[in-house]
Amino acid sequence: MHTRDYQALDRAHYLHPFTDFKALGEEGSRIIEHAEGVYIHDSEGNRILDGMAGLWCVNLGYGREELVAAATEQMRQLPYYNSFFKTAHPPAVKLAETLCRLAPAHVNHVFFTGSGSEANDTVLRMVRRYWALKGQPDKQWVIGRKNAYHGSTVAGVSLGGMAPMHAQGGPLVPKIAHVRQPYWFGEGRSGEGRSGEGRTAGQDPEAFGRECAAALEAKIQELGEENVAAFIAEPVQGAGGAIIPPESYWPAVKAVLAKYDILLVVDEVICGFGRLGEWFGSVHYGLEPDLMPIAKGLSSGYLPIGGVLVGDRVAETLIEEGGEFFHGFTYSGHPVCAAVAQRNLELLEAEGLVDRVRDEIGPYLASRWKALEAHPLVGEARSLGLIGALELVDPATGERFAESRGVGTLCRDLCFAGGLVMRSVGDTMIISPPLVISRDEIDELIDKARAALDATLARLAEPQSDPRPDPQEESPA
Ligand SMILES: *Cc1c(COP(=O)(O)O)cnc(C)c1O
Repeated sequence: MHTRDYQALDRAHYLHPFTDFKALGEEGSRIIEHAEGVYIHDSEGNRILDGMAGLWCVNLGYGREELVAAATEQMRQLPYYNSFFKTAHPPAVKLAETLCRLAPAHVNHVFFTGSGSEANDTVLRMVRRYWALKGQPDKQWVIGRKNAYHGSTVAGVSLGGMAPMHAQGGPLVPKIAHVRQPYWFGEGRSGEGRSGEGRTAGQDPEAFGRECAAALEAKIQELGEENVAAFIAEPVQGAGGAIIPPESYWPAVKAVLAKYDILLVVDEVICGFGRLGEWFGSVHYGLEPDLMPIAKGLSSGYLPIGGVLVGDRVAETLIEEGGEFFHGFTYSGHPVCAAVAQRNLELLEAEGLVDRVRDEIGPYLASRWKALEAHPLVGEARSLGLIGALELVDPATGERFAESRGVGTLCRDLCFAGGLVMRSVGDTMIISPPLVISRDEIDELIDKARAALDATLARLAEPQSDPRPDPQEESPA
């Protein structure tokens, strides 16, 4: 089969996630056939540096035979069994123990799911159930943040704060509120995005971070503490645009939460398993979450598995006072997925990859990435661990482009054409490479990113040829 054969069948039968089906049909998919290390290969023979680790998940890189062997052995031994009816199997039990050893000390239980979205569905049911068991059934509101991503199931969409997702397939789950996000470049730098207030002068990032935490407190007071079950947030927003909050933000949020009796849910689906240079983003920011949804890097994406790490306070209540919790999935703790996740965590540990992100490769990326700020198209270059973003701005004004110009999409397409996967969220360019990436490969990533920025700039300078935005919708996932 050739590329065009796959494209024809793809067009005829395959409805892709987060895709304008018709537009993609006209353009045709890029067919990815195999991969090794940090590189993917398409059906046209192109070798492309995967700056996104698949979809934020292939932390160990591609082609790890140890994970293939773990899956093969487990499939032979026991390809499937459930844990519903007073049964368990070794891979799920071992993985539960490993996760709780790696998690903060107050976290000693895990509920397995098939994905991050299912993990957040579990979160929503669990926090409301917790308060019901505590004799406070009115505590049902969950506060999330605008532009957060918590998955694509009904609960995931509702907890998340993606306006385009909220606009489709509603109504959403009731009693979920959203407060402003700590996105300084987008909303604090020049006062953009403050609803009703118009455009105001730029703000100091730390003051802005405190203001965002104050918005959380205001929302708790507005809803009434007696009605609020939990606050949910990603340590660093991933799909929203690799948004690294100002240093003041999390300490200020912690101070707010300390005043009220509500649960903290930290969505670790991207930040967990080394992305920020610690096993969990919560550790980096010194947070003590009651619940931590996990997925993606848990298995380095080799097989689908997610879960919710449950802190002692909630676990003890569910165990001691709860009776049966009517919740679970056919594939909760799937043995083959669990065996692969277990091996993945063992390899991350044995190879010291999490510390390497914090102490060596993360700082190396940071220094090289920051230098891209000198490029005329780049208004800000930020990174933390192995997640990074570039904010594209109009060199003439230093302000962001009109969204309709589609500059981010243009840059993303030029990246791909130049052999690098870098994603765009609006005009924010994003990377999240495999944790195994070498210094040389980071150099290559930076060179290719700079070449794509140059090419984007050249294209923008061409007279009459305003870049036509790719009709393909940008995926928030
Ligand atoms: C990807 C993601 C999810 C959803 O995970 P799926 O496995 O795609 O269902 C949830 N939360 C965050 C922070 C994510 O990045």
